[in-house]
Amino acid sequence: MKILFVASEVYPLVKTGGLADVVGALPVALSATNDVKVLLPAYEGLMGMLSDCRAGPILGNPFGYGEMRLVFGRLEGGSIEFWLLDCPNLFHRQGGPYLNEDGHDHADNHRRFAALSWAGAVVTQYGSLMNWRPDIVHAHDWQTGLLPAYLRAWSQRHPPVVYTIHNMQFTGAYTHDQYLETGLPESLFNMYGLEYYGRYSMLKAGIQYSDAVTTVSPTYAKEIQTPAYGCGLDALMRDQKHKISGILNGVDYQVWNPATDELIDHHYCLRDMDGKALNKQALQKKLGLRIEPRKPLLGLISRLSEQKGLDLVLQVLPDYLEQGAQLILLGSGEKSLESAFRALSGRFPDQVSANFGYNEPLAHQIQSASDFLLVPSRFEPCGLTQLYALKYGTLPIVRRTGGLADSVWEDISGRPQTGFVFNDATVHELWHALQRAMGAYENERVFRQLREQAMQQDFSWESSAAQYTSLYKRLIT
Ligand code: ADP
Repeated sequence: MKILFVASEVYPLVKTGGLADVVGALPVALSATNDVKVLLPAYEGLMGMLSDCRAGPILGNPFGYGEMRLVFGRLEGGSIEFWLLDCPNLFHRQGGPYLNEDGHDHADNHRRFAALSWAGAVVTQYGSLMNWRPDIVHAHDWQTGLLPAYLRAWSQRHPPVVYTIHNMQFTGAYTHDQYLETGLPESLFNMYGLEYYGRYSMLKAGIQYSDAVTTVSPTYAKEIQTPAYGCGLDALMRDQKHKISGILNGVDYQVWNPATDELIDHHYCLRDMDGKALNKQALQKKLGLRIEPRKPLLGLISRLSEQKGLDLVLQVLPDYLEQGAQLILLGSGEKSLESAFRALSGRFPDQVSANFGYNEPLAHQIQSASDFLLVPSRFEPCGLTQLYALKYGTLPIVRRTGGLADSVWEDISGRPQTGFVFNDATVHELWHALQRAMGAYENERVFRQLREQAMQQDFSWESSAAQYTSLYKRLIT
């Protein structure tokens, strides 16, 4: 099959969260038996990261923001061909893919990602432009939601579109005036189309006009059909439930494997865990924590946002810090959470290390050094950090929601315990989950067994890729 992926971030080229990890790894898993291309914006500096860059077709200047063209390239030694959408006016910016240097949305995000969606639709529709017409298109999150809307508006035969929701909270909602810039017809702007409480939503467009909708875990696929998790789209999700499925993300074990990880100091594996203890010691030293081989070290790697339940951590943790536990946090996002964690580290300077900004090596080092990883999310479509933690023998402490519920087991019959799971996002429940975790830590034999069970879990991409493949095949035939 020829499969076109369209997304706004791809590891290792550009990453702000789990979406990039998925779009970096799933095409590689699929490429064993398929021909996969990945279309993404040519953000500033991206072309320089690819080798063998060659010019592709010019797509024109349909919106008046400057000429758009494609550039093809690969990562050194990589199997996937990337198609970069080059339009300097839209994509050459200071800051990140969505936010400017001050942390605010780029003012023209509605244009930038309409352009990405439009280019994806053009490539899909007019494959003869590059001698390659996809059999299936796989678009991701709100940034590409208008892709199937353009195809619908042009109303010609086109390959099926699979649309994956990585996070329902980001609806990509903009005003009617901004809609007028997309070139889409007024006839789609209604409640049976992409209208969303008086505005339009790119996410809603993706759901309405694609042939199948997937989300990144079976539990989240059910949750988003309820008012509590549906972000105002739950009625639509219930209405469309015949085309929704949940496929759990996998892990790229080439990147996340303590036996081979190039970003950690000491390698280790199930049979030889010495490296993990050495990593703990090395990271405690590097970050100025007290060197304590026998005190529980908690890791936390997260966007700092309401979603992630970090306010609960701030309330519960002091109790455990007073008993000698340690915390290493790596996060970026809301300034108020940043200051709260900075204050916590001021109060417990040799037990709490608060690190802000984006730091890929440190994320790996925390996974390799910690005894536990905290993921107390209010909602979590899939969550990747807990999957990485399992492989690194770092027991996840998670809330029973979304992909966390589908990947970490405590008290589930027939499943070996691999972490600590609590039901409600309350201080009380998190406190008790930590209590159980600390109890297990005290008992060396129990702790070792839990660690082994965690490390034996296999969340590689093969099984998820097989589920996507059968979905693609069903749509094509
Ligand atoms: P989300 O996509 O909601 O942010 P996920 O758990 O699905 O959450 O994916 C988070 C990804 O981003 C993981 O690969 C994690 O290691 C990484 N990550 C999160 N915050 C940081 C950070 N500050 N520095 C480096 N990596 C981070």
